[in-house]
Parts: sequence; structure tokens; C-alpha cells
Amino acid sequence: MDLAFTPEEQKFREDVRAWVAEHLPKETAHKVHNALELTREDIQGWAKILGKKGWLGYGWPKEFGGPGWTAVQRHLFEEECALAGAPRIIPFGPVMVAPVIMAFGSPEQQKRFLPGIASGEVWWSQGYSEPGSGSDLASLRTRAERKGDKYVVNGQKTWTTLGQYGDWMFNLVRTSTEGKPQTGISFIVLDMKSPGITVRPIKLMDGGFEVNDVFFDNVEVPAENLIGEENKGWTYAKHLLSHERTNIADVNRAKRELERLKRIAKAEGVWDDLRFRDEIARLEVDIVALEMLVLRVLSAATSGKNSLDIAGLLKIKGSEIQQRYSELMMLAGGPFSLPLIREAMHAGWQGDFPGGNPTLAPLASTYFNMRKTTIYGGSNEVQRNIVAQTVLG
Ligand SMILES: Cc1cc2nc3c(=O)[nH]c(=O)nc-3n(C[C@H](O)[C@H](O)[C@H](O)COP(=O)(O)OP(=O)(O)OC[C@H]3O[C@@H](n4cnc5c(N)ncnc54)[C@H](O)[C@@H]3O)c2cc1C
Repeated sequence: MDLAFTPEEQKFREDVRAWVAEHLPKETAHKVHNALELTREDIQGWAKILGKKGWLGYGWPKEFGGPGWTAVQRHLFEEECALAGAPRIIPFGPVMVAPVIMAFGSPEQQKRFLPGIASGEVWWSQGYSEPGSGSDLASLRTRAERKGDKYVVNGQKTWTTLGQYGDWMFNLVRTSTEGKPQTGISFIVLDMKSPGITVRPIKLMDGGFEVNDVFFDNVEVPAENLIGEENKGWTYAKHLLSHERTNIADVNRAKRELERLKRIAKAEGVWDDLRFRDEIARLEVDIVALEMLVLRVLSAATSGKNSLDIAGLLKIKGSEIQQRYSELMMLAGGPFSLPLIREAMHAGWQGDFPGGNPTLAPLASTYFNMRKTTIYGGSNEVQRNIVAQTVLG
């Protein structure tokens, strides 16, 4: 395994860096570097800029309009974007549903859906989880009943991230109750403006509205929106989830946040405390180790080996690291980082922050928000079960 980048890869990195520096809106980068709240326009604006360049579907093969990059090039692209302060690419369209449509959709479906995903014009949401069906996803009950040339969908999805912005949604639905639960699930896509859909926001403990309940009341979905074969949705879902877990490791964002932690520690005077610096060093070592693991996965992918069987490990380590840096930032800020001031997440906030450095004000919100990372994308406990079965045997 050779982990050093070739001169061509270094050149690729420099080209991406220069392009991102020129095109990433400064105001958006400022928000990202300071963990301020991003609007839909910030997120989608960047997606469209990438889309115009042909880089939003950066993991796509050339035959589907992607750049056809190697795994290493994709990693370098992600790293340069993260370090420059670009918003995270919302994965539901380009990273999650697109590979499923490419692998299992018909040529008509590919022609119909992929261009809107590649350009960033169409916002996708993920409809897997239901009340009572999270870890035990195969128990899901949202029903799609075939009636002539339509499916009629009834039920509820939950935790739908940014579903308030969703134009389209990919869903796992029950089309049969025969046999094992996994065998009666289908994968359908639907227009979120369809009559009978209600999106209800869920307020999270950080005070934000990032997730939603989505209710389906006799929603009519054209049968042509079924991806692949009826009752084969579980196979397609597994294909997609391995992409999600690799993406969630987010080692590049961790590198950016490590720098932010160091800035905060210096500004708050705890940088000189050797015990605190030990904690930062420990975190940095873990981030480097995670990066090595990601590079190993990339190296395995380049040589054609199956790299996805340790996706769960990346998810576990990546999410723990995300929680740790948010905890260390809180510790560095001490009592001034404690109050949850939701408004401080907005750029330009001029509120009262007596005695402390106002850049600490968003920390409590970030800390609470990061609690999600060990739950979403499949909880870490469940990932450990999967790793135990697939890696340890
Ligand atoms: C912020 C956020 C965003 C999300 N976004 C989306 C989204 O966009 N779309 C979507 O479909 N879903 C989304 N989810 C849902 C997410 O995938 C589920 O929350 C997750 O799979 C866990 O399911 P659950 O919440 O039902 O918890 P449960 O499955 O009820 O688990 C409860 C606890 O029991 C543990 N547990 C369960 N089973 C086992 C087991 N076999 N062994 C050991 N421990 C176990 C879990 O680890 C957890 O600690 C999101 C969740 C969050 C928090």
C-alpha cells in the first residue's frame, strides 16, 4: 500500500484549491469556518456552482456526466473543499440516490433524474426511518399499494433531514407482507409537492429545525417511479447505506474543526495548559489515524478490493471525533461557552455576550447538534454489530 500522493495528484490538488478559492462565496466560507447557520441559499448556491463545473456529482463515472475521478482524486477534492470552508455537499442526491439510479434505474429514469441532481437544482431527501423502524429498518410499515398504473402511499417517515427543502424524496416502502420483512420492501421516488404529503418540523435540542416528520395520506405515485424491481428495495437500500457511512466519517471537516479548536484554545489562553494541549494532540492523532484508514479504503478501492466492509468503522471513529472536538471547544471556552444562544448561529449576530469572546456564542449549539452523529446513518452500537459480523467474523 502506497499512501504518498503522486506528482499528478498533487497537481490535481493545487488546481482544485485554486478553483475553490476563486469560486467559493466568501460569506459562505466565513459562516462555515465559524460554524454559523447556513441558509438553503448558501448550501444550494454552492451546489449549483459545483454543478456548473460538473463537480457536484464528483464521485460519478464519466458515462453519467461525472468527472470520472479516481478515489484519491475524490478524497483530495473533498479535503480542499472542507479546508476552504465550503458547505458540505448534501449527500442525498449526488452521493446516495444517484448511485442507486445509476445501478438499478432504467435508462429513462437515469435521463429523467440524474441531470437535476448533477446541477444541484433538485433537492432530494431520504425517507428510510419511521417511528419504531430505525435500527430495525426492515420492520418499516409505510405502505405502497399498487392500483393500476399508480402506487398509493400511506404512512410516516421521520428524522427526514432538511426535508423542509425537499423537492424529491427517495423512500423505502412496504409492497408485500409475505415472507421475511426484507423481501417485501420497494424503493420508490416521489415528488414532495404531491397532494397528501405533510412535512412537519421537529425541534432539536440545539434549538434548530434540521429534521422533520413526513406524513403520507393516500399519496398517488406513478408506477414508473419505482426504481428497479418491486420487493427488491432492501438490496438497493444496502447499496446506498454503505455510501452514507463512508461519507459520514467526514475526516476533512474534522481537520478544519481541529484548526478552529486550536484558534479557540489560543484565544482563551488554554493553549498553554499542557494537559489541554495533550487532549488536542490526542484528537489530532485520532484524526490522522482516521485519515490513514480512509486512505487505506481508497487504496483498496483503487486496486479493486471491496472497501465498503469497513465503512462502519469509519462511521464509528469519524462520529466520535466530531463529538470530541465539539466537547473540547466547550471546555476551552469554559463558562462562556455554556449558554445556548440560538441567535448567535446567525451571521452578523450582535447580541449581548457579557464578559466573553462572542465567537464562543455558537459553541453550545454546535455541541448539542453533534450529539446526532453517533445516532444517524445507523447508530454506532449497530455499526459495531455489523463490524463484528463482517470484519471479525
Ligand atoms: C439528526 C438526525 C438526522 C437523521 N436523518 C435521517 C434522514 O434524513 N433520513 C432517514 O431515513 N433517517 C434519518 N435519521 C434516522 C437515523 O437513521 C435513526 O435515528 C437511526 O437509524 C437509529 O434509529 P432510531 O432513532 O429509531 O433508534 P433505535 O433503533 O430505536 O435505537 C435506540 C437505541 O438502541 C440501540 N440499539 C438498537 N438496536 C440495537 C442492537 N441490535 N444492538 C445494540 N444496540 C441497539 C441504538 O444504538 C440506540 O442507542 C436521522 C437521525 C438523526 C438523529
